[in-house]
Amino acid sequence: MKKSVVSKEYQKLQKDIIQLQEQWKTSLDPDCVRPKIDKAAMEAGVPVTALAAIDFDISLFLQWIEDIGGLLSKYQPEIESSMQTIKSLMDEETAKRWIDEAFAFNYIYFASFAEENELDGWIPQFVAETVLRPYLQLTAAKVQDEIHHGVHGAGCPVCGEPVRLAQLEGEGKKVLHCPRCSAHWNDRRVACSHCGNNDHETVKILTIEGESAAQIQICEECKGYTKVIDTRQYIVKPTPAMLDLNTIHLDFVAQEHGYKSAGETKQTN
Ligand SMILES: [Zn+2]
Ligand SMILES: [Zn+2]
Repeated sequence: MKKSVVSKEYQKLQKDIIQLQEQWKTSLDPDCVRPKIDKAAMEAGVPVTALAAIDFDISLFLQWIEDIGGLLSKYQPEIESSMQTIKSLMDEETAKRWIDEAFAFNYIYFASFAEENELDGWIPQFVAETVLRPYLQLTAAKVQDEIHHGVHGAGCPVCGEPVRLAQLEGEGKKVLHCPRCSAHWNDRRVACSHCGNNDHETVKILTIEGESAAQIQICEECKGYTKVIDTRQYIVKPTPAMLDLNTIHLDFVAQEHGYKSAGETKQTN
């Protein structure tokens, strides 16, 4: 398997971003997110963060934009001026809007924000998503004890991210991990984690040559895939974000075979 399909530079940048987010998370007041566990909403597939109250600190937000700008411009110096533009446009109202829209995966809002302000199309959403994650991770850490299972098709029970990563635990139990917020929850080993299909004729395993600890579970019903990594032998377990990044070549393999991380289950909202 060619791991070289993903550029080293891309992986390095992503690693730097994950480190930055770890650092940012430690500067958050633990009380700045107040999740509310609503069991009925969770059973209906509403992610916990949709009902969480988040207090924003605009000065932190601006600091983080500066940090991410500094990091990005090491890789792409021309980004500096775009980051300055973003900082100059940022006020409390815009910051709140960014967080809401990043949470809702609202590509259209960010694309038009970029266009109106003559920024590269990808920058606003990328920045918003990057600064949102520490809040999502803090929320997930607070509610993790209440998260035991997800609703197939609804993505991560905490943040709604489509499922794509699982780790094996104990006797081979499949535990899904969210690379976006770090929440984890159990799923049946044989079931497709997107649509719940557990027919062994249509839920299959793609084994990857030279990878004894990694498989891709695929489903012919919904065309979804899940990376299943056996981390039981690891001495130090990587964070879900790092594990996801380190196994990104498996996403390419799955996608080359025509599978998707979102599956094709119908969204109910
Ligand atoms: Zn999540
Ligand atoms: Zn499926």
